[in-house]
Amino acid sequence: MNELKKKDKEVSKIIEQEKKRQSEGLEMIASENYVSMAVLEATGSVLTNKYAEGYPGHRYYGGCRFVDEVENLAILRLKKLFGCKFANVQPHSGSSANMAAYAAALEPGDVILGQAMDAGGHLTHGAKVSFSGKLYRSYSYGLSGKTGRLDYDEIAKIAKKVKPKVIMSGYSAYPRQLDFKKFRKISDSVGAYLFADIAHIAGLVAVGIHQTPIGIADIVTSTTHKTLRGPRSGIIMTNDEELSKKINKAVFPMLQGGPLEHVIAAKAVAFGEALRPDYKKYIQNVVDNMKCFAETIQSFDFNLVTGGTDNHLILIDLRNKNITGKDFEDALGKAGITVNKNGVPGDTQPPQISSGIRVGTAALTSRGMGPAEMQRIAKLFARVVDHITDEKVLRSIKKEVKMMCAKFPVPGIK
Ligand SMILES: *Cc1c(COP(=O)(O)O)cnc(C)c1O
Repeated sequence: MNELKKKDKEVSKIIEQEKKRQSEGLEMIASENYVSMAVLEATGSVLTNKYAEGYPGHRYYGGCRFVDEVENLAILRLKKLFGCKFANVQPHSGSSANMAAYAAALEPGDVILGQAMDAGGHLTHGAKVSFSGKLYRSYSYGLSGKTGRLDYDEIAKIAKKVKPKVIMSGYSAYPRQLDFKKFRKISDSVGAYLFADIAHIAGLVAVGIHQTPIGIADIVTSTTHKTLRGPRSGIIMTNDEELSKKINKAVFPMLQGGPLEHVIAAKAVAFGEALRPDYKKYIQNVVDNMKCFAETIQSFDFNLVTGGTDNHLILIDLRNKNITGKDFEDALGKAGITVNKNGVPGDTQPPQISSGIRVGTAALTSRGMGPAEMQRIAKLFARVVDHITDEKVLRSIKKEVKMMCAKFPVPGIK
């Protein structure tokens, strides 16, 4: 970024500092990842200059020959990756993908049913502070107090009672697989559409490590920047031609104007990467690393929600450690490890404090870290929890983290 360095020292300096932060720390936020240099280059390309309202072949602007080609390529690759019939690659984010999906199937005031935020669901699944809880009458299902898992019989009961027009399946913080077929049965029993938001697990679904909702759910939405390892963006998929037309109208002109063709190009690059055999290996490593980390940390008397994981994340319940999620997040931060606090089932702390943290392995695995590093990092968690207010110990752990990170360069950072 030589030009930026010359022309705008202020912004350039901030970006350099963030690069350093990303290189020298352990990124364990479950929703984050590191994109490849190829994805970065496409994101930073001249395609940002182009207006292209509409869809390939039907634009409201001239000069769209090449952005048409790139958007068609993104759609083609996405359809191949997930085996779906129709795809829209224009949503700017996961939230805008969900907004368009609801708008395609619902009228304001209709009833939706989704996973509660404090049970691992996402804001856009009906939270009252979100458009999804304001435009629609939203209800939620939680987790079993006993198992910390989804209770499908309970979801069916709630569905019978509230008669939703859409049931949303999917989560941001849940360590187990989803059974989309059970969700389908529940949806059919009340005549509801089934949506699946695979923002977190898209990579696992793409390579077949997690059951796919394609062909089961009516509409599937996702982000592209979590396990899928693309640019920060959203996508919508369906096998239903009628719905696909409604989705396209909802994205444009109902909710968005010009699509971000540079980001769409970066999505095409990321989907291309995900279609290659080494991506499947990568996702397998993400899941194996998570298992290894989970087992090691349990040996240090950390409790995991549901007792383990079968995806790329875990939820650590810190109540036996007498520390809040917020304080552990802060202490890990001082030790160079980034995580986020998270509520756990039956949590009595408010969300800004929480009794747990969420930890994921997608980003570390992109740096090439493996089981040996996972065991080492789990031990660091145990040291941090025992020295929560000992700045000196936390500083020395941070040094150790930095040395460890130096051996695993971040893709896209030279
Ligand atoms: C991350 C996430 C989103 C939102 O993505 P943004 O790009 O941040 O808007 C939507 N749904 C789920 C389940 C998520 O985890």
